[in-house]
Parts: sequence; C-alpha cells; structure tokens
Amino acid sequence: MPFEEHEKKLMRYFDGEMDAKQCAEFKLHLETCESCRNALEEMSALKEVTDSMKLAELPEAVWEKYWNSVYNNIERSVAWFLFICGALILSGYWVYRVITEPGITTIVGLGCMLMFVGFAILLLSVLREKLTVNKSDRYISEVKR
Ligand SMILES: [Zn+2]
Repeated sequence: MPFEEHEKKLMRYFDGEMDAKQCAEFKLHLETCESCRNALEEMSALKEVTDSMKLAELPEAVWEKYWNSVYNNIERSVAWFLFICGALILSGYWVYRVITEPGITTIVGLGCMLMFVGFAILLLSVLREKLTVNKSDRYISEVKR
C-alpha cells in the first residue's frame, strides 16, 4: 500500500467516515502497520488537546465581549482611516491655497509646508500604531483560544 493510501485511510478512520467493514479492515491493518498506529496515537493526543480548548465551551458572555471588541476595533480603524484621509485632503488643499495665493511670502509658505508634512507624518504614525495594535490584539485573541 503506498504511503498516501495509509494516510488517506487513517484520516477517514479517524474522522469516522468508514463503514463497519472498512473500520474492521483498518483495525486489522493497524495491528500490522506501526506508522499508522503511531500517527493515530499522535492524532488522538492532538484531538484531546483541541477538544479541551473547544470554543463552544466558552461562556456566551466571553464570546459577546470578543466579538464586540473585534467590531469596535474594525469600527475604530475605519473611523481613523476616514479621519486621516479627510485631514490629509484638507491640509493638502490648505497648503495648495497658501502656496498659490499671490502675495504670500516664501517663509509663510515654507512654514505651512513644514506644518503639513509634520501633520501628515503624525497622522500616519498614529494610523500605523492603530494597525499594529489591532494586529497584536488579534494575535493575542487567537492564542487565548
Ligand atoms: Zn498503515
């Protein structure tokens, strides 16, 4: 029997997809095939661990809190993104007006330009921080499960 065949049958056996006859046949095979026996043992141990971490066993309130926080994070990220886009457009327009306005000295234009660049960097760093925090939040929730 080729290697894939062992694996395929083992999976079906493990998932309870075999009928009684196939089951009996595979049990016979298990007695003679050490690699299948070892793999089955490993899978059973793994299943025990994942079963003990079953999501369904979490109280309803924890789930609600989890989804609320996910929703809040998404909501806040979107809000931040919109806010930053709006601020960039407004300040960009403002700089454009200052630069193109006749009679404004170069110093004022330069000052506005620097302020705009500083503002843009500030907003982008806030956005980056938001995104990084959300990512690590998600990672922590994933691990907690
Ligand atoms: Zn085997």
